[in-house]
Amino acid sequence: MDAIKAAATQSVFREVNERVRDLNNAVGYMDIGDLDECFTCECARQDCKEHLMMNLDAYEEIRRVPTHFGVAPRMSHVFQDIERIFETFRGYWVVEKFGEAGLAATELDPRLRPRPGLTLT
Ligand SMILES: [Zn+2]
Repeated sequence: MDAIKAAATQSVFREVNERVRDLNNAVGYMDIGDLDECFTCECARQDCKEHLMMNLDAYEEIRRVPTHFGVAPRMSHVFQDIERIFETFRGYWVVEKFGEAGLAATELDPRLRPRPGLTLT
């Protein structure tokens, strides 16, 4: 697995999930408690179509660390040459990228760059 390419793929899925979270926030879904939301698997497989069910608190816990990604809870969604399993839950696993993949994931973290429309002038 190419570490940089894998990190880039996973970062695209992470961007999708960030938009989902933003949209849910915009329509006030956060007010309905800790119901599970549907997120996209953030594994390195470009053709992955798996979805993960987790509440927003769990999602935020993953996003707190730029090298962490949420993936479907099976080894076919983990690439051990570029990441390790950090934590396992019933509906999803958290993987932690290391080495070049970890650096790339950090550089591509949408939360570490200014958001469009939110830049200060
Ligand atoms: Zn996957």
